[in-house]
Amino acid sequence: MKAIVVGAGVVGSSVAYRLAQAGADVTVVEERRPGGGTSSVTYAWVNACEKLTSEAYFRLNFAGRQAHEAILAEFPGANWYHRPGVLQWQDAEAEAGGRDGSDPMAKLEQLVAWGYPAEVLGLDDVRRLEPEINPEAIGSAPVIHYPRDGWLDPVPYSGALIGAARERHGASLLEARAARLMLAGNRCGGVVLEDGRTIEADVVVNCAGRWLNDIVPAPEYRIPLAPTLGIVAYTPPAGAPLRSALRTPLINMRPDGGGRFLLRSNELDRLLADDQGALPGHPLAQELMRRAARTVPALKNVPVEAVRIATRPIPQDSYSAVGPVPGLSNYYAVVTHSGVTLGAFLGEAVADELVHGRSRDELSAFRPSRFFN
Ligand SMILES: Cc1cc2nc3c(=O)[nH]c(=O)nc-3n(C[C@H](O)[C@H](O)[C@H](O)COP(=O)(O)OP(=O)(O)OC[C@H]3O[C@@H](n4cnc5c(N)ncnc54)[C@H](O)[C@@H]3O)c2cc1C
Repeated sequence: MKAIVVGAGVVGSSVAYRLAQAGADVTVVEERRPGGGTSSVTYAWVNACEKLTSEAYFRLNFAGRQAHEAILAEFPGANWYHRPGVLQWQDAEAEAGGRDGSDPMAKLEQLVAWGYPAEVLGLDDVRRLEPEINPEAIGSAPVIHYPRDGWLDPVPYSGALIGAARERHGASLLEARAARLMLAGNRCGGVVLEDGRTIEADVVVNCAGRWLNDIVPAPEYRIPLAPTLGIVAYTPPAGAPLRSALRTPLINMRPDGGGRFLLRSNELDRLLADDQGALPGHPLAQELMRRAARTVPALKNVPVEAVRIATRPIPQDSYSAVGPVPGLSNYYAVVTHSGVTLGAFLGEAVADELVHGRSRDELSAFRPSRFFN
């Protein structure tokens, strides 16, 4: 089978690696660099504990977490998956079920029932684990600890998987922009590159993330997306000995290598009007830094070093869309939020479906067909 994978983010690199490993003749078409899209601007928490909107979605993300653990055995010495644990707390209002209606203890109960490693910590335990956290930032909220959670470095991950797809399994990487799918009636025969060259294939797997629909010339084959913007601020090396990732009402923050910290907030993301002005002086980046210092006072005099803004690839109903698009043969789309969590699993599942002809149950609720009549 000759396959084209468009996009080498955390999703496309996983798909390309597994397809090539399964025996497909793979060409990856990437216009930037592996991991150079949204995968380079992300919190990258590999988790299923924030995916409780449906059991199927929880299970899918749980499989994602397991696949990231499993794939490490194929990459001795890989250092892209960090699992020091994640601490989560909410403010008093949310705790009472007021603001977002969620009840942390009910959530914990559900997670434990579904086999997710999670526990409640008292303030003393938090202090022992992470002495740098300001107890006032926590207040009286219960703290949930996910002792085996952590984050991925998606760019080294994508680079390593593309490297392995090429070196171990003969895939090729074409540094070029795919202009559009090559359509003949209701069949996709390959892609047309921006420079006019064409590449033919038995199947095109579209992993272009937020740019998914840009290469789909016929509107009837486009998956409706509802993308959102996210802003991430980075500190310089700061020397504050925080090990865990934090998910709190003020801020989500975690170490980002070399003593740096990565800062973001869902609440502040909602205030972003556009993706312009990604510079340290950006008012939302400055607010992230203030919030980080309130949470970890050792960061009080640390400036913002860099800022990035990205667009999340999110299908319209917020769930993953993975599979064929009705009416168009030889075409397979893979677009999802939580692509970091899901990448390694999606690689396996797509190879199973396309090369081995084994349909994966975990994906049955997440087919693109739900968007088409
Ligand atoms: C602020 C923020 C926080 C997030 N937090 C988390 C989190 O904690 N956990 C989690 O799991 N997920 C998180 N996400 C989501 C996650 O980052 C994305 O779902 C994931 O990175 C998407 O990966 P992808 O490979 O689908 O897309 P991308 O990484 O964007 O990759 C697509 C690739 O396709 C290439 N491409 C596009 N069009 C073309 C073309 N025409 N020709 C050639 N190449 C093309 C691009 O250059 C790019 O490299 C977050 C996202 C943001 C923005």
